[in-house]
Amino acid sequence: MSRLNPRDLLVLDTQAVARRPGAMVEVSRTVDAPPGLGTDVVCVPEGAPIELQLRLESVVEGVLVSGSCRTQASGECVRCLDSLLFDLDLDIQELFAYPDTAAADAEEITQVEDELVDFRPVLRDAVVLALPLQPVCQDDCLGLCAMCGARLGDDPEHQHDQVDPRWAALGGLHRQDSNASDAPGAS
Ligand SMILES: [Zn+2]
Ligand SMILES: [Zn+2]
Repeated sequence: MSRLNPRDLLVLDTQAVARRPGAMVEVSRTVDAPPGLGTDVVCVPEGAPIELQLRLESVVEGVLVSGSCRTQASGECVRCLDSLLFDLDLDIQELFAYPDTAAADAEEITQVEDELVDFRPVLRDAVVLALPLQPVCQDDCLGLCAMCGARLGDDPEHQHDQVDPRWAALGGLHRQDSNASDAPGAS
């Protein structure tokens, strides 16, 4: 286990409350988004500001960290490919357990290490859970025209001359003919 760096802004120092159940400190800081907060489609870009407003409360088994994280995610509408910005306002609540308590034995519980806790995984889980899997610019986004790629939301009247299905069938035949004449030995 690599030791936590107390100067890392995503590492929280519990020294002021540790082992004093009932004690509480507030931590407000703006941090740079670490890498890995999301997917290629939608994410909080690395280095984007994240505002943390956290309370560190001492409880018997460890330190309870709760509060909010505010930031902005960016992505692309999966239908029309417009770029999107989302405001994220996430509620956080996570217990970090002292290594010598029963709570620390539970696998999903992170431990307090040398009175420090690593907030990074908590932040990542909260952001990833909050991001939409299929972001859209609006619920009724019309997407792009299948024929020319135009954004249908900009031009609801948009249409192409409908080819009569019988002529379309002939067009297909014509294409087959020209393909055949391109084939070696066909001419
Ligand atoms: Zn869209
Ligand atoms: Zn079109």
